[in-house]
Amino acid sequence: MKVVKYIFVTGGVCSSLGKGIASSSIGALLESRGFKISMTKIDPYINVDAGTMSPYQHGEVFVTDDGAETDLDLGNYERFTNTLLTKNNSITTGQVYNEVIKRERKGDYLGRCVQVIPHITDEIKRRIKQSIDKDTDVLIIEIGGTVGDIESVPFLEAARQFIHDAGKDNVLYVHLTLIPKIKAAGEFKTKPTQHSVQKLREIGIQPDILLCRIDGEMNTSMKKKVSLFTNVEEEAVVDAVNIKHSIYEVPLLYEERKLTDVILKKLRLTQTKVDISIWEDLIHNIKNPQHEIRIAVVGKYIDLQDAYKSIYEALHHASIANNAKLHIKRILSDDMTEENIKANLEGVDGVLIPGGFGDRGIQGKILTAKYARENKIPYFGICLGMQIMVIEYARNILGFKGANSTEFETKTAYPVISLLEEQEGVDKKGGTMRLGANDSIVLKDTRMFDAYQKEKISERHRHRYEFNNLYKENFIDKGLVISATTDDGSLVESVEWNNHPFGVGVQFHPEFKSKPFSPHPLFKEFIKAAVKNQ
Ligand code: GLN
Repeated sequence: MKVVKYIFVTGGVCSSLGKGIASSSIGALLESRGFKISMTKIDPYINVDAGTMSPYQHGEVFVTDDGAETDLDLGNYERFTNTLLTKNNSITTGQVYNEVIKRERKGDYLGRCVQVIPHITDEIKRRIKQSIDKDTDVLIIEIGGTVGDIESVPFLEAARQFIHDAGKDNVLYVHLTLIPKIKAAGEFKTKPTQHSVQKLREIGIQPDILLCRIDGEMNTSMKKKVSLFTNVEEEAVVDAVNIKHSIYEVPLLYEERKLTDVILKKLRLTQTKVDISIWEDLIHNIKNPQHEIRIAVVGKYIDLQDAYKSIYEALHHASIANNAKLHIKRILSDDMTEENIKANLEGVDGVLIPGGFGDRGIQGKILTAKYARENKIPYFGICLGMQIMVIEYARNILGFKGANSTEFETKTAYPVISLLEEQEGVDKKGGTMRLGANDSIVLKDTRMFDAYQKEKISERHRHRYEFNNLYKENFIDKGLVISATTDDGSLVESVEWNNHPFGVGVQFHPEFKSKPFSPHPLFKEFIKAAVKNQ
């Protein structure tokens, strides 16, 4: 069995410093040196998974192939690296306690008093090791939250114990902090970083590497000072300066600052290759676009940075592939009216309606679909965005007055979107939707086929309601194209408008599988149509 190396990434001072991007970039750099990596996210909240949390609490819920509803950082891990993540790569307090309590009730602890140390910490360590397979060289574990949070203590304790289990040459602690600039003094301040490292050392963790977020460069004397106060070698104090164009510049920034070399030295790893050219090419393309496009995203959570994270990223990847600089116009669907829609969508080259739950803002989305269909603006509907397309078509083309989804109106005369029978009795909310990867069959001579260029595809799902097959023939008669179904033909997976530059709605979430180096084919086609539409 190979010796696996562990890198724990923690955060200090405050949240939102970009721990997920930092961890992903470290993963990408290790891959560029020939190592096989895996990545795990620890979320210290009590929820078993992110599936039941509101976007206001949590941002996007990322879905893996095996149907785990996880933190959006797993999306970053999959986008930046070649890892394919599963349920094993996401750990929460809820899961850990659930398991330990279940075992206690079974009598597995043989009369012992069940405690945080060692029972909870043992379970945390067991779960961390679950994501290692026979090829893994390095496992990167990001611990969510900020050092000092009460919920993260058992996880930090488990991280500390890893040195005893795996040996000190095999464990590395990276701590991400902030060096703020105090305007009145006109100076950068290192004190919060010093305190944050002290907090970590109280638990018994001495960080090996400090990534210091800073709005400017760190000079040598600052680095020396941080090094002296924190006991971190000077070469391992890295100024993670703000990047200009894209998050995908971060791996190159770290590489320039020799972070990978420091990691390899500390973990006593010998590299097999160095190749970061894919990152250099990507950034070159981002910096040299030939077109500019404007895509409107019409949704409920447009004021949140992260609610549609994977969608924004997928649009970004597809734009790079089409040599276009992307501008996203975020429009609150609640505010879209017949009076303002023309002005709202003025100069927009394509419209995207993302997934969503509940009836707030639905009317504005239906208006948007109608406007895009009639004015031949490229339209991409994802999950709820596809259901909206069906409702709009039913009301305005089939003449089904008041057609709706039973999610929004249980007693609608035309339930064109409805619950599957197997979903009807479900009253538990956690993990009960149609989740994860499913195969679909794509029909030839459709926009879907243009994009995928193959009949059999697999995409990830996260929804409860479905296209109601009772009305299938009515829709087909009036020209709506059903371009993909599940492989047994029982569920509709995508619909399209005829005679339209691009009007596609999909029941699944293609955004979860888009990467900068392999943009999702549907997003690519959508952006291609948007560029053409200019
Ligand atoms: N609310 C819809 C459903 O449950 C759509 C879900 C989504 O967009 N992810 O089917």
